Amino acid sequence: MKLHEYQAKEIFRRFEIPLPKGKVASSGDEAFQVARELKGPPWVVKAQVHAGGRGKGGGVKVVQTVEEVKKAATAILENPLVTKQTGPEGRRVHQVLIEEGVTIDREFYLAVVIDRARAQPVMIFSQAGGMEIEEVAARTPELVLKQFVDLKAGWMPYQGRNLAYAIDPLPGPEVLKELMAIMGKLYKVFITLDCSLAEINPLVITKDGKVMAIDAKITIDDNGLVRQKELAALDDPREKDPLEAKAIKHNLSYIRLNGNIGAMVNGAGLAMATMDVIKLAGAEPANFLDVGGGASEEMVTMGLEIILEDRNVKAILINIFGGILRCDVLARGVLAAAEKTAIKVPLIVRLEGTNVEEGRKILRESGLKFMVAKDIAEAAEMVTKQVSRSA
Ligand code: ADP
Ligand code: MG
Repeated sequence: MKLHEYQAKEIFRRFEIPLPKGKVASSGDEAFQVARELKGPPWVVKAQVHAGGRGKGGGVKVVQTVEEVKKAATAILENPLVTKQTGPEGRRVHQVLIEEGVTIDREFYLAVVIDRARAQPVMIFSQAGGMEIEEVAARTPELVLKQFVDLKAGWMPYQGRNLAYAIDPLPGPEVLKELMAIMGKLYKVFITLDCSLAEINPLVITKDGKVMAIDAKITIDDNGLVRQKELAALDDPREKDPLEAKAIKHNLSYIRLNGNIGAMVNGAGLAMATMDVIKLAGAEPANFLDVGGGASEEMVTMGLEIILEDRNVKAILINIFGGILRCDVLARGVLAAAEKTAIKVPLIVRLEGTNVEEGRKILRESGLKFMVAKDIAEAAEMVTKQVSRSA
């Protein structure tokens, strides 16, 4: 679960990571009022969306008067924001963060993430902060420094020195001390709140020698939300793909993808394998959808409805191995969905397992137009052919 910048900054404030003063607003007028309570000029108006690269996409504006704050806020709130991370259609912005502008001398990158291969948290630091860290990592990997954290020992002060003393030219002792303190605090945020990411980019030194987090990004591990109830309440459903939000509501594991073959499968492993064979057959899956081992007829119906709502879907592959989810239940779920929404795209079904004969019979006698595949490979071939024919 991702947090907005302003939410992440409230958390940083609690952990005493220094920040510019600021407050969130949802209209131009409110932004104007907020700005009047803050020190300026300059003021900074920042779009609150779950996407990075706002600076380059026009989602961060530095302005010199409170009237300009209002204008900038209104413009950001009224137009979808397009950045490298939003896709070409952009994202609606519902809130802006108004902040006191600071004069930046140097920009660093600092983050804690999980290194999956080592199964350890890792602190990443770079003195080439501000811009996209991916680019820095690709072009000048020697500028990206890492310290792996032993979970039992926690973050150690010497690790902070390993990172901070690599800065060239070396800042003064007060600044170094502050930088190292912030590293420790960021690690504490990460561990305490079950984060999968805690990032400050840029972490800056201001012209008057202060160290401050100018940006803040926190992602909470979804599996940690059961014990992070307070954080779960910060979820902003407006940032989610509407189909994904609907799936969550109905307990379906659904992730939208870029292809045009909708797939409904039971079991995460079979779902992954199905996506693989679709790709192998030369097509692209439109989604990952696992209705679950013990899915009910209603869940099958809902799953199919979600697939049908995705306009990119040109053919549907239902690949079910009946175990706890019986094939007849699946078939009834498909019929119920077909009654609600006309299925206008080709439907390919591969059924195997418990009550398979009954399931096939229900489908056969439904009058529904669908094709039966004898195995998973044939199913993928058939569905791919359907898509290339319609293209
Ligand atoms: P994003 O990462 O989405 O582009 P940032 O919060 O990092 O957004 O802001 C982009 C840039 O805008 C920063 O690198 C910084 O140069 C400038 N900026 C943002 N907030 C402030 C601020 N309060 N004072 C001065 N400059 C700022
Ligand atoms: Mg940033």
